[in-house]
Amino acid sequence: MFITNTDALNYKRILILSRSDEEMESKRLCFSAFACPQCKHAMKLSPVSDGVIGTCQNRECNLEKNMLDECRLAREAELLFVKGVRLLERVGVKEALDVFHECLRRRKILLHAYNKDLAETHDAIARY
Ligand SMILES: [Zn+2]
Repeated sequence: MFITNTDALNYKRILILSRSDEEMESKRLCFSAFACPQCKHAMKLSPVSDGVIGTCQNRECNLEKNMLDECRLAREAELLFVKGVRLLERVGVKEALDVFHECLRRRKILLHAYNKDLAETHDAIARY
């Protein structure tokens, strides 16, 4: 599932980060790992006074758009993942997998292929 060794190493590094480091890491990723809705390259996000502007890093595309909706949808997907983990602990694997699959479906639309949230969702599904 990893495109390069660097991605695998990054993922391992993220896994061993402490809780607060992990939160910083996810904030950083929120501003770097969305997919361009037009070409699927990475969007670079910058906060502005009235929202978050994403700029596609693909020079042939260069799409610029307000990414507030995407940030909101990404948070909703995050909540689904947390819900899946809870179902796994308290209800059962089948119920949790349904939620993980829905989470993955949403994250695939939003996030760049290297995003660790996507890796995390794939991992959760592959484990059961
Ligand atoms: Zn683009």
